[in-house]
Amino acid sequence: MAGWRVEPGTQENGLLAELDPEQLAAVQAPRGPVCVLAGAGTGKTRTIVHRIAQLIHNGHVSAGQVLAVTFTARAAGQLRTRLRGLGVHGAQARTFHAAALRQLRYFWPRVVGGPQWDLLDSKLRVVSQAAHRAGAGTESEVLRDLATEIEWAKASMVAPDDYAVAAGKALRQPPAPVELVASVYRWYESFKTKANLLDFDDLLLHTAAALDEHAVVAEEFRDRYRCFVVDEYQDVTPLQQRVLDAWLGDRDDLTVVGDANQTIYSFAGASPRPLLGFTRRFPNATVVRLERDYRSTPEVVSLANRVIGAARDRPAGSRLTLVGQREPGPQPTFAEYDDEPAEAAAVARRISELLDAGTPASEIAVLYRVNAQSETYEQALSELDIPYLLRGGERFFARAEVRQATIALRTAASAGPTGELPKLVRELLEPLGLTADPPAGGAARERWASLLALVELAEELSAAVEGADLAQYVAELDMRARAQHPPTVEGVTLASLHAAKGLEWDAVFLVGLVEGTVPIQHADGNDAAVEEERRLLYVGVTRARRHLSLSWALARADGGRRNRRRSRFLYGLIPEDHPSARTARSRQQRDGSAAAPRCRVCGGPLLDAAAVKLGRCASCPADLDEELLARLKEWRAKRARALKVPAYVVFTDATLMAIAEQRPLDTAGLVAIAGIGASKLDKFGTEVLSLLRTSG
Ligand code: ATP
Ligand code: MG
Repeated sequence: MAGWRVEPGTQENGLLAELDPEQLAAVQAPRGPVCVLAGAGTGKTRTIVHRIAQLIHNGHVSAGQVLAVTFTARAAGQLRTRLRGLGVHGAQARTFHAAALRQLRYFWPRVVGGPQWDLLDSKLRVVSQAAHRAGAGTESEVLRDLATEIEWAKASMVAPDDYAVAAGKALRQPPAPVELVASVYRWYESFKTKANLLDFDDLLLHTAAALDEHAVVAEEFRDRYRCFVVDEYQDVTPLQQRVLDAWLGDRDDLTVVGDANQTIYSFAGASPRPLLGFTRRFPNATVVRLERDYRSTPEVVSLANRVIGAARDRPAGSRLTLVGQREPGPQPTFAEYDDEPAEAAAVARRISELLDAGTPASEIAVLYRVNAQSETYEQALSELDIPYLLRGGERFFARAEVRQATIALRTAASAGPTGELPKLVRELLEPLGLTADPPAGGAARERWASLLALVELAEELSAAVEGADLAQYVAELDMRARAQHPPTVEGVTLASLHAAKGLEWDAVFLVGLVEGTVPIQHADGNDAAVEEERRLLYVGVTRARRHLSLSWALARADGGRRNRRRSRFLYGLIPEDHPSARTARSRQQRDGSAAAPRCRVCGGPLLDAAAVKLGRCASCPADLDEELLARLKEWRAKRARALKVPAYVVFTDATLMAIAEQRPLDTAGLVAIAGIGASKLDKFGTEVLSLLRTSG
């Protein structure tokens, strides 16, 4: 999260300082293929930054010949900041898409000609047209799922005609029959082309094609860029790999770093295979493994190891155990709440304590699985007057006050004013609302915080670059705006787990850890998808340097039915003597919700799957409504006959018994029963619930 924090190493021979022997091996490897396979927080990103600096320092390449790519705009911004910290200027660090967009704009006149096509910001509008035309559903949820399928297909380089077969092979769960999705995809491409529009994946496709098919373009490009670096390589898609191959041509000056355990985009077509198979492709590659975790306390590292240690089918080469290097810190905390507002209020109170104890707000993050979860936290933080940034504030440069400020600063810069930069910036921003003290709260407060961040950026620039003037400062703002790299605004980050990849904070709150959210409901029943959700939790845990809190709530709304269960990934992580384990247990004894695998009658541990499903030992007395069970069985038999499947395919006996005992009242209660996932819920949920309701 560092803004301008200059890393150690700006001094003469400092380039190699503060690197361990393995990191050093990767940094000092000669030009050519290098692969760093290592866990979270082991210094992969740091290693590539130093390697780039070292290659330039030794004269192997010039800064302008380096192209470093990563997966989020924010991570790319961080790369640039860290490079500058080592005195490297002019090396490109971008996302795949931003790099492709730039190249395509440059080569467009030669490879396509005519006016440049516009970028399609959001594909939903065109997907909607296409769905309408193809006769598919057009509800917003269906459209979103259709867009996801199209994105997956394009990232996997699957054309509309091949979609049906490929989707089957990849075990996709499309929102409509595969032939229909293929037809929507076909219409989508056709509408888009007619309107002279490009989507994000087209940028990559066209860039690869331009280099593959135009020798002159390829020659010019390859002359310009000679050294390639990819961060977070475990999440590369076939399409991105194709672009990378086109960039490389027959050269091998490629450094990749990644962690297969942090693969969190396979639902979108990404795969760790290129990372894990790197040495097969480049047998002469320098391969380095890092195990020392420099980011987190041993307590956090130990939890991270346990989260990922429980993963199934970890690919060879990803079974690294992290070894914490930092001073010990507090134990991670686990807490269960009655409902989400209570969870959010407790998190906000804890954040307020951290702030009081001196942790800066920008060093605190609340991470959740889906963006819809943010609202409760926005409210809870606002109530305590704690500033926050949604999704890390990447829309910083789109804010009205920042745009006004940029205009004011640019105008002033053209007059060539002299004086101390931070003071100058502060004076120019005062008329826009930068008072000495922060306003009470709400919009005015947010506006004030943005302006203050601009002043702080000026302070950091002055500290990093001696004699920096207003023109340089405005140029820096422009560059950051283009790269969507906001300055550090004082505020707690609210972000999704996906968006948090590669980043770190002193204190991290992982919230909403209930079944149906982590893992997300639509992953249920698909082992690969569930494993990806586990990796997502691992990514979350490993973002914390020192304080880590994991929490969940049994009901969504205040006073709602407490029928949720905490995430299955938490089993075995919560210490037995921990109060939350005790609450969970006593609650379970009280109302039968299966928060931990313990018998709700006797409180003893549940040892087999059937017992877990029932929520009690087979030998303990059942509080079963026999009549209801009979009706459920009758319904199941009818349903099985109609579907021409054996009865257990509808529901097993154990599931039926669990339903009869627990008598869930709503969908949430139903999915809380093991064995009832999204697809069963879709098929049978309504019928079962109405049967339960009409059974007295
Ligand atoms: P992720 O998998 O989450 O992307 P990473 O492997 O890229 O993690 P970095 O972000 O490069 O890890 O490093 C994690 C933290 O450890 C950073 O704060 C970095 O500055 C610090 N660090 C890395 N290597 C060292 C080292 N040799 N000595 C001291 N600190 C280090
Ligand atoms: Mg990293």
